[in-house]
Amino acid sequence: MLGGTFDPIHEGHLALARAALKELRLDRLIFIPAFRHPLEQKDRKTVASPEARLEMVRLAVRGESQFELSDCEIKRKGISYTVDTLREFRSLYPKPHELYFLTGGDWGKNLSRWKDIRTIFSLARFVVARRPGFDISPLPKEVEFLDFIPLDISSTAIREKLKKGASVSSLVPKQVLEYMIQHKLYQN
Ligand code: ATP
Ligand code: MG
Repeated sequence: MLGGTFDPIHEGHLALARAALKELRLDRLIFIPAFRHPLEQKDRKTVASPEARLEMVRLAVRGESQFELSDCEIKRKGISYTVDTLREFRSLYPKPHELYFLTGGDWGKNLSRWKDIRTIFSLARFVVARRPGFDISPLPKEVEFLDFIPLDISSTAIREKLKKGASVSSLVPKQVLEYMIQHKLYQN
């Protein structure tokens, strides 16, 4: 499972997802766009609507057989706590199914701020992946580390480029680029 605001989804997310599938030998990877991120600051609200973010993830995962999309957080509305999502997935996939929750390295140092982090650790295996610009050591002992070669891409950088009218064609899948252009997302 990979949660995020996906505002918009980009090649960095997809690289992480592919590496996790391979290295952790997962059956599938479920992308879960947040309705509202719990640790989001007032000045850092999502820009695109939940529906648009969901649709961009849908376009990006189409055609990759092991990628799936869940709209559970967007349907649930309110603040999207990972612990609530993991409880939902645990009732769908009881043990001995293995669940893995993935995040990028920008969260490695922040885990104590997550709601019910101990419960999260008991519901799923928690994996932190390397991300350029973020030092993730030391990680709590419950956390596993995913080693892969990350791409230095962020949704923030993509939004800034689009605002300036710069090209982002190498940073997002083609279908996502077309969607952003068609819906005039992230422009001034
Ligand atoms: P923003 O700049 O708006 O925060 P973002 O690029 O960080 O966007 P999110 O939707 O916040 O994207 O990220 C979802 C998840 O993917 C998070 O766990 C984040 O750490 C991870 N992630 C995002 N980009 C990368 C990347 N380039 N490499 C590794 N992990 C990433
Ligand atoms: Mg982020």
